[in-house]
Amino acid sequence: MAQNHLMASRCMIILLIMMSLLLSMVCQSKPLTDSLYHKLLSLPIADILHVDSESTHAASVDFGLIVREIPAAVLRPSCPKDIVTLVAFAYNESSLPFTISARGCSHSIQGQAMAPDGVVVDMMSLGNKRRGTTVLWSWSLGHYADVGGQQLWIDVLEETLKHGVAPVSWTDYLYLTVGGTLSNAGISGETFRYGPQISNVYEMDVITGTGDFLTCSPDKNPELFYSVLGGLGQFGIITRARIALGQAPKRVKWVRMLYSDFSDFTIDQESLISHHGRDQDEALDYVEGSLLMHRNSDSWTSFFSLSDRQRLMSLVTEHELLYCIEVAKFYDGRTQTTVDKALEIILKDLSHVPEFMFEKDVAYVDFLNRVRVEELKLRRQGLWNVPHPWLNLFVPKSRIADFNTGVFNNIVLKKNITTGLVLIYPMNNDKWDDRMSAVIPDEDVFYTVGFLHSSGFEDWQEFDLQNKEVLLFCENNGIKVKQYLPNYNTEREWMEHFGSKWRTFQESKAQFDPKMLLSPGQRIFNHN
Ligand code: FAD
Repeated sequence: MAQNHLMASRCMIILLIMMSLLLSMVCQSKPLTDSLYHKLLSLPIADILHVDSESTHAASVDFGLIVREIPAAVLRPSCPKDIVTLVAFAYNESSLPFTISARGCSHSIQGQAMAPDGVVVDMMSLGNKRRGTTVLWSWSLGHYADVGGQQLWIDVLEETLKHGVAPVSWTDYLYLTVGGTLSNAGISGETFRYGPQISNVYEMDVITGTGDFLTCSPDKNPELFYSVLGGLGQFGIITRARIALGQAPKRVKWVRMLYSDFSDFTIDQESLISHHGRDQDEALDYVEGSLLMHRNSDSWTSFFSLSDRQRLMSLVTEHELLYCIEVAKFYDGRTQTTVDKALEIILKDLSHVPEFMFEKDVAYVDFLNRVRVEELKLRRQGLWNVPHPWLNLFVPKSRIADFNTGVFNNIVLKKNITTGLVLIYPMNNDKWDDRMSAVIPDEDVFYTVGFLHSSGFEDWQEFDLQNKEVLLFCENNGIKVKQYLPNYNTEREWMEHFGSKWRTFQESKAQFDPKMLLSPGQRIFNHN
């Protein structure tokens, strides 16, 4: 009898909890969505605001396929003024401020371009390739391009090449937007010499979280300029960037060399990036590196001929883990006859495994657009739109050997689940501008390490657990890594990430987005 009574009261309590949860869900989301819907439809941008489920669902996924957050509406602007109208309304007039997120290609991993119950601004609707890029020249800057924030880097490349020029700093993959990569940093094998993409910007047009449309540069609104670069979308929406250009080369000598010894690998990589003057003939144009294992062989074999692949696989079997240095030297008609000699001199004292150096000669565009080939292959195999539990880190040079032992040997090899590319290459700290929001380790040289996992829909958590183990290993062993494309959940973690920059970051947020409307998907100021 007493037991029955106890059971009944337990059921009652559970029922009450469930009812209150349901009520709180209804009270939180419905009024916001309704109110948004009606107020937004009274604006002059009503006809480009889309609330149909096809639009909102499309804006609720990203490349990671791990997070899903449904917005209340999607704005498809036809000009920056449409975005100004939306942000100014949210800032000035709305009794219920709603969040707004610029969405480039949504190549984020953890929902960074999403706006739960807010408005996603589909930047791609701002313009196509023909309208987006203008190549100009001045005495002070030489060639430069004015580029829409929504532009894909591939379109910037195609347009600038018509004028015989091209940006000097790239990402590996070119189907990313200018605004999306400038909000992070934009890194690749050119970074050691030319700095990240954020170091190659002269000026920007930005719509701040107060709805102001401002032009900024190191001389004009400098606080906004430096905050926005690497600012994770927190301070404004970039609608135009003025990008540095250089003479475009025609072709590329593209070389890969294999190492079984990690120390030889890092000594050689660091020596190669030590020649990094922009006008230095003996400098390479591109230096990257990666891990070669049986388990991730799908991601690295395509570079090699069929006969070389067999030799390579035997070497991988022998050592379990190989390290690959990948370099490129660009050339044109002027340097065509000297490039081979120059490359020979640069590479002559390296300690790679003898007989394991492979060279290709490819067109400049094909080199820059190399990941597209892999993308199309994966799409054909149905392996592109799958979860991507990625982890990208910057590791100080002084601890990279410990990282190799603790992470590559003791976690990656032992777990044996790693798929996709694992990148590892060094960069020079002095090519980054400390006034910008991007965060890097406090050493002259640091490595980027990228675990670019692809997983199934059922097992991405396994990779996520490995990522957490890597981070825990670093924390427990005092390896002061910084996440690139960071993903944190608590304010404490963000404070640690930004370190001495946290205060400035907060102050800039208070100045340029005081109602914390922008890019809530980063979960910096909108975390739970
Ligand atoms: P989104 O995912 O749409 O947005 C990212 C963030 O930027 C969001 O917070 C969003 O609100 C904000 N944002 C977007 N547009 C704007 C804007 N105009 N103004 C202000 N904020 C904005 N990164 C590298 O550095 N180097 C690489 O080599 C590289 N390779 C990649 C390869 C692949 C296959 C993928 C999927 C990603 C790669 N990335 C690389 C990461 C990529 O640079 C970032 O994910 C970048 O944010 C993607 O750009 P996006 O246009 O898709 O941005």
